[in-house]
Amino acid sequence: MELEDINTVAVLGAGNMGHGIAEVLAMAGYDVNMRDINDEFVQNGYEQIEWSLEKLAENDQLSDEEAEAALDRISPLVDMAEACGDVDVVVEAVPEQMEIKQDVYEELESVAPERTIFATNTSSLSISKLAEFTDRPEQFCGMHFFNPPVRMDLVEVISGAESDEETLDVIEALADDIGKSPVRVHKDSPGFIVNRILVPLMNEACWLVESDEATIAEVDSTTKFEMGLPMGSFELGDQVGNDVSYHVLEYMHEVLGEPYEPCPLLERTVENDELGKKTGKGFYDYEDGPGAEIPTDEQSDLVKQRLLASMANEAAKLIGNDVAPPESIDEATKLGAGFPDGPVTMVDEFGLENALEALEAAYEETGHERYAPADYLEERAGEGGFYESADDDGEGVDFEAIRVEYPGEMVGHIVLDRPHRMNTISDELLEELTAAVELLEDDDDVRSILITGEGEKAFSAGADVQSMAAGGADPIAAQELSKQGQQTFGTLETCDMPVVAGIDGFCLGGGMELATCADMRVASERSEFGQPELDLGLLPGWGGTQRLKHIVGEGRAKEIILTAERYEAATMADYGFVNEVVDNDALAERALELATDLAGGPPIAQKYTKRAMLAGRDDTEAGLEYEASAFGHLMATDDLMEGITAFMGDGEPNFEGK
Ligand code: NAD
Repeated sequence: MELEDINTVAVLGAGNMGHGIAEVLAMAGYDVNMRDINDEFVQNGYEQIEWSLEKLAENDQLSDEEAEAALDRISPLVDMAEACGDVDVVVEAVPEQMEIKQDVYEELESVAPERTIFATNTSSLSISKLAEFTDRPEQFCGMHFFNPPVRMDLVEVISGAESDEETLDVIEALADDIGKSPVRVHKDSPGFIVNRILVPLMNEACWLVESDEATIAEVDSTTKFEMGLPMGSFELGDQVGNDVSYHVLEYMHEVLGEPYEPCPLLERTVENDELGKKTGKGFYDYEDGPGAEIPTDEQSDLVKQRLLASMANEAAKLIGNDVAPPESIDEATKLGAGFPDGPVTMVDEFGLENALEALEAAYEETGHERYAPADYLEERAGEGGFYESADDDGEGVDFEAIRVEYPGEMVGHIVLDRPHRMNTISDELLEELTAAVELLEDDDDVRSILITGEGEKAFSAGADVQSMAAGGADPIAAQELSKQGQQTFGTLETCDMPVVAGIDGFCLGGGMELATCADMRVASERSEFGQPELDLGLLPGWGGTQRLKHIVGEGRAKEIILTAERYEAATMADYGFVNEVVDNDALAERALELATDLAGGPPIAQKYTKRAMLAGRDDTEAGLEYEASAFGHLMATDDLMEGITAFMGDGEPNFEGK
């Protein structure tokens, strides 16, 4: 089966997840049969979809007509044969109990056509075991959405023991087609990726408290303000529900053994019905107390070491057993748990040697199997990290389409180096740009990034149409290319350091989209700007439709994109796109000066400012919340003292990022 063959999808279960999955499928144009065991339940799910679509329309994420059309595509049904008798895919989201799922699959097998692919949304049961309840284990796989499906982009696509490639490919393509980001999980392993990282982390947090090595406040202060995770470990546990974490852990314990023994502290919260936010009390008290109030200044080195060691060990087991490669683990955890950096990147940065040392010390002290280092961790510690290039110091990296230079004073300078082709952006350049940003981010001596184009003609005149056209008119390949560019440029936007674009000459199309992702832009007088894509019948597909409006406002962004006109530097300065226009001859010097100035700023405050502004783009509340907690964190930094002291003494501060 190919993606084009999928028209109708059945969703079994109209509960929490089922109704959300039905909604996203219908929004993407699929006909959906949503089935539950009685009229009341299925109707309830339908009303929740109606409510959610209305909200999306109110927030302009959907037009009223689109919302109505999506709702029209959903048929609420109770009869199994009617729901599944003629569908291409079934997504099952019934309660997480083997016996219930067994009954459902046996009944489903008796009514579904041969062609139909079955996908389960289970969070913790074995995909392979569920597949055995059917006669088509090769046409069966996991399709694990995150809650709520309408908002969460991640879908883990999990292979059962017998799933065939075609099934996995088509479910991955379906997830992609409904606007989600699928991540492949190559083996049916408990917790898949995200829960496999998060749940043992939660358990380790509990063990630290249970063994009196740390307090809840210390653990959460460290997780949130030292490691930079979006929530404290216990805060997250309360949010997810302690029964849910416990349940997943018990399953891991059963399948994977002693390392996953649930900590008694977690067990007690479940016994006492302290399940977290949903019961008003968990590790924190939400009814009679203030909820999760996390101190900004109770970080503990031991907590950090243990939690990172736990992540390193789980990542090693996933990578070493071919469940998923480092990139997938990072992507899934960023999307599914909102980690700003992926866990593999985090532990690589921490140093696998350090993680290994922490595990060995704890193993010797406690003898608990959760500290037994995975073989693959030992292997990679010797190599310097999970990522192949982790111990590269940059010296050995060969770039062709760009150059990376270090003009001094903590600035990393990326030069787009294809002057013969007006520094146009090729596949190769995109790949190298990603690698260069990573390289500079990993370099403790670099505190800001400057991007310029080689030569006097162009910063970058856009996409290298010639090299792109070589790919042919393949819509899937083009979509991939668009995503690749969005992501690559996005690394500048999400990069924790300030980024300056020094623009001299043409800054068009993809080149302008790249410049949009910088934090500040300086341009020479002769520079010319524009998004000419619509003239080609295209659209600015490397983030142009989304990012430009945040800088110049939606009205100007539409003007620039829809007219596809060329603009002078002075006009772009009026529009707010260019921060400063300078003489042609002065550009290089001024851009470096600005990058150098920013490199001297307080790194932690800069990082949190960028993150808070980004977090608040689509969700001001989230941004404000982020801003507030980051503000709290900054109060405890040395840089603040340095800044205040210099201010009082009228001197220049020397920020150290501490
Ligand atoms: P839920 O209890 O909210 O919904 C389950 C629904 O299935 C109920 O409406 C129930 O009436 C219905 N149901 C029961 N038997 C059925 C049958 N024979 N046919 C059709 N429907 C039937 O549960 P949920 O939270 O939506 O979880 C569903 C699945 O999704 C589980 O496997 C769970 O592990 C998984 N999941 C849950 C989350 C989450 O955060 N809640 C996240 C990812 C995956």
